[in-house]
Amino acid sequence: MYKAKAWSVASATSPFVSRRIDRRDPTEHDVQIEILFCGICHSDLHQARNEWSGMMPTVYPCVPGHEIVGRVARVGSAVTRFKPGDLAAVGCMVDSDGTCPECQAGFEQFCPNFVLTYNFPDKHLGGVTYGGYSDSIVVNDRFVLRVPASLDLAGAAPLLCAGITTYSPMRHWGVTRGKKVGVVGLGGLGHMAVKFAHTLGAHVVVFTGSPQKKEDALRLGADEVVISSDSNAMQKHAGSLDFILDAVAAGHDINAYIQLLGRDGNIVMVGAPETPLPISVFGLLFRRRSFSGSIIGGIAETQEMLDFCAQHNITSDVEVIPIQKVDEAYERLARSDVKYRFSIDMASLRSE
Ligand code: NAP
Ligand code: ZN
Repeated sequence: MYKAKAWSVASATSPFVSRRIDRRDPTEHDVQIEILFCGICHSDLHQARNEWSGMMPTVYPCVPGHEIVGRVARVGSAVTRFKPGDLAAVGCMVDSDGTCPECQAGFEQFCPNFVLTYNFPDKHLGGVTYGGYSDSIVVNDRFVLRVPASLDLAGAAPLLCAGITTYSPMRHWGVTRGKKVGVVGLGGLGHMAVKFAHTLGAHVVVFTGSPQKKEDALRLGADEVVISSDSNAMQKHAGSLDFILDAVAAGHDINAYIQLLGRDGNIVMVGAPETPLPISVFGLLFRRRSFSGSIIGGIAETQEMLDFCAQHNITSDVEVIPIQKVDEAYERLARSDVKYRFSIDMASLRSE
């Protein structure tokens, strides 16, 4: 066991403070990573503030962070895919049973025994897992990803959650050229969804509640932008979309988007609002529409996504911040004011 530096919260209302945490020495299948950048996901904010108290209550102190890139520092004796000095990345999961049908099929995110990167029982040290707002992490090698060398590291970190969470449903539901795709909510996930849908050749319509984001949406790859409070502009797309990805972090009127879908159209929720969303069933009956959800992606698909990003030169648009600004970043995230992901430069934690 060794001590790592981390940034943690002690309660739902406390500011972040510096803290030393225990990390295990790498066992034979582990990789110890010196963290260089960690993205700030809205899930970090939900969890740190215990907004998901019903589904996933927060255990304090909490060290969030599941968009991790860094360099391998040490490897266990059985690790063959990584060596010290390699670039490496970790997303939302750090373990799973590896034997269940979901794991066997490459869907570790559906494994009943998976372990999330933070706020999950830690079978090695007891207590809960601690995430990437830290200078170091130790992870089973099955959950360590290769980072293509061409990617900017600060912008690559958010791919580990925002990237895979939007890439996976788009591949699953067949976003391709000739499809009309909606993206609701232009935040960390939403802006990655726009980049992927555009690169996959779809006609992309962004729905945003923030009129000032219109120019950015077009620059990111949107073909059209609709301000969601403009009901006439919304109506123009009624019954016309093949697929909608909804990445809104708070309660909102989902029915306004369901009616925009054409025959057999599907709207997938990736946003995780703390409150239930009322659904008008009639909106689904007409045109045989469906409403679905999706959570991150499997490890092989995450590697595929990173390689796709290298091939198409895709990274997240980031505001790089020192760790001392995380509280301020959370305030801005809560106001939908980030362009379009905060990425923490972990050098700022090393100098604490
Ligand atoms: P984010 O950067 O804060 O973006 C969310 C966007 O939603 C905002 O930029 C805003 O876009 C819109 N929005 C926020 N509050 C709203 C409100 N009250 N009404 C309408 N629109 C609102 O968050 P994120 O990191 O992309 O995460 C989005 C959600 O996905 C979170 O709930 C997060 O927990 C969840 N998530 C899920 C998964 C998964 O695997 N399913 C993975 C990661 C994150 P506009 O300004 O354009 O309206
Ligand atoms: Zn996330």
